Amino acid sequence: LYNQVQDLKGNIRVYCRVRPFLSGQPSHSSTVRDLEEGNISIINPAKYGKEGKKTFSFNKAFGPTATQAEVFSDTQPLIRSVLDGYNVCIFAYGQTGSGKTHTMSGPNDLTEETVGVNYRALRDLFLLSEQRKDTICYDISVQMLEIYNEQVRDLLATDGAANKRLEIRNSSQNGINVPDANLLPVSSTSDVINLMNLGHKNRAVSATAMNDRSSRSHSCLTVHIQGRDLTSGNIIRGSMHLVDLAGSERVDKSEVKGDRLKEAVHINKSLSALGDVISALAQKSSHVPYRNSKLTQLLQDSLGGQAKTLMFVHISPEHEALGETLSTLKFAERVSTV
Ligand code: ADP
Ligand code: MG
Repeated sequence: LYNQVQDLKGNIRVYCRVRPFLSGQPSHSSTVRDLEEGNISIINPAKYGKEGKKTFSFNKAFGPTATQAEVFSDTQPLIRSVLDGYNVCIFAYGQTGSGKTHTMSGPNDLTEETVGVNYRALRDLFLLSEQRKDTICYDISVQMLEIYNEQVRDLLATDGAANKRLEIRNSSQNGINVPDANLLPVSSTSDVINLMNLGHKNRAVSATAMNDRSSRSHSCLTVHIQGRDLTSGNIIRGSMHLVDLAGSERVDKSEVKGDRLKEAVHINKSLSALGDVISALAQKSSHVPYRNSKLTQLLQDSLGGQAKTLMFVHISPEHEALGETLSTLKFAERVSTV
C-alpha cells in the first residue's frame, strides 16, 4: 500500500522548509511569503519591484511554524517503504544555519517533540517491524559516514580509527558498500541514540582541530534492512540514507585560500554532482553521472531505478540571506519534477 501511494507521486520529491527567525524579528520582515500548498513566494523589491515576488513550486512547503512531527508525517510513507524492500535517500540541503541539522537530527537540547527525522524514522522502522514479526523477521543495522574533502570516514569507529580514509567498493554480491566501516545491528531506539551520540562525538573531535567542520562535510546515516519471510523464506533488502549535506553557500574563491579554498572546491563539486545526478534522473536522461563525486558514488544504488529520493531544501528568512535563498531555490527547481 505504501508503495502504491508513493508511486503515484513519483520517485523524486522536493520539500521546502523555511526556518523561523531565531532572534524574534517580526515575521513580516521575512523574505518568504505566501506559503500555500507546495508554493512559496520570495519578496525581493530590488529585483521584482515593490509589489513583486517570485514563486517557486514544490511537492510540499513547510513554513516557520511547522513542527518536527508535521515534517515527519509527510516523510513517513517513504520510510515505511524501506521495509518493503525499497532504497530511500533523504537529503537536507541549504546554506549553513538554514536548519538542515534541525530537520535531520533536531536541536542540541533534544526532547520528545524536537527529535528530527532520523530518530523518528528508526523508531518507526522498529515499530513496524514489530507489527510484522509474525510474518517477516527483520534485521536492522546502521552505518554512519562522513565525507569531507572527498574522503570517506567512519563516524562509528572506536579506538581512534575514525580518521582512517575508507574506500567505496562495488561488489556483485553487496552492491555499493564501504566494507571497512562499522555496520552495527540495532534493535531499539536506545541503541540508535547511543550510536548517534558516538557519531556526533567523532564528528566533534575533528571540529576542534578545524572549527565547525560539520558545516563543511556531508554526514550520512545509512540504515540497512533485511527481512526474511517466515513462510516462503524469501529475503527482502531495503536501505535508507539520511544525509545532512555540507552548507551550500557559495564561497568567494578570491577571498579564501589554503584549507578553506580546498573545502569550498570539494563542497561545490559534490553538491553540483548531486544536483546533476538528481536532475538527470528527474528528466529520465539515459546517462546519469554518478562517478563525479564520492557522495554520488556512495549513493549510486539508492538514487534512480526503483529508489525513492526526498530532498528537503532549507531556506533562511533573513534579508541578508536572500542571495543564498535564491540560489538554493534554483538548485531545488533543477532537481524537482513539479
Ligand atoms: P544547519 O545544519 O543548516 O547549519 P541548524 O539546523 O544548525 O542549521 O540550524 C541553525 C539554528 O537554527 C539552530 O540553532 C537550530 O536549532 C535553529 N533552527 C533551525 N531550524 C529550526 C526550526 N524549524 N525551528 C526552530 N529552530 C530552528
Ligand atoms: Mg548542520
